[in-house]
Amino acid sequence: IRANFSTIADEDNDISGFITVLSDVTEQEKIERERREFVSNVSHELRTPLTTMRSYIEALTEGAWEDKDIAPKFLDVTQNETDRMIRMVNDLLQLSRMDNQSEALQQERTDFIHFFHQVIDRFEMNVSDQITLQRELPNEKLYVWIDQDKMNQVLDNVISNAIKYSSEGGTIRFKAEKQKGQLLVSVSDEGPGIPYDKVDKVFDRFYRADNARSRKLGGTGLGLAIAKEIVESHHGSIWAKSKEGKGTTVLFTLPLVNKKRRGK
Ligand code: ADP
Repeated sequence: IRANFSTIADEDNDISGFITVLSDVTEQEKIERERREFVSNVSHELRTPLTTMRSYIEALTEGAWEDKDIAPKFLDVTQNETDRMIRMVNDLLQLSRMDNQSEALQQERTDFIHFFHQVIDRFEMNVSDQITLQRELPNEKLYVWIDQDKMNQVLDNVISNAIKYSSEGGTIRFKAEKQKGQLLVSVSDEGPGIPYDKVDKVFDRFYRADNARSRKLGGTGLGLAIAKEIVESHHGSIWAKSKEGKGTTVLFTLPLVNKKRRGK
């Protein structure tokens, strides 16, 4: 804690009072350190795909473009890396808008169960037959006050991870239940899991439990950080449970709203 001590003088320059300002330096330093780390992470994250692309483009320029087998593969790599960079920059822009609170939430009263079914329907149409999506959702309406686009994104990020990290034959389970006046939502997979000491960090920006795997799967390392920002802006919390080799469950809560609004 830093203490700034000043005196207050009256017209005759006699001391008439004192002001002490105590500021929490550790908190300020922490924010400053996190900001520096973030900038360094962003630079690093963008440099990696750029360096990769440069070496592939160099190889193409130096003659690989003439090789009908190699050229399309190299172009494919540069395209994938460009796509990943675009996703990353879009994710960063979104985080920055949320940090600056320049975007108000467009919240509406929503039956989460109906909403959740619709989101899962969308995934069901695109997921491979090798993965089973299993709904364990109640037959009642559970109302929450949410920004549907944003909540869609939370579910999108969490469910895409479950699919991305699932192996063939895996099952993904969707649950939503009332618990202590809150809605508890969970998505479980039977994928490789996350080591015990890393499971809380996956919500940090750019944190990846398995770097190579995440990059290969086109990950940005920002999906869960965005999910966390959105859930917390809805006054909920988000966390994960995992057992290596068994699977991962991502859970989040949202405050429930009354079925009938008062006075209606
Ligand atoms: P990414 O774009 O790398 O998937 P996320 O922020 O979505 O970034 O996730 C952060 C990290 O958490 C991932 O890199 C991965 O290591 C781990 N992770 C997230 N979801 C799962 C899951 N369902 N199973 C195993 N690991 C996961």
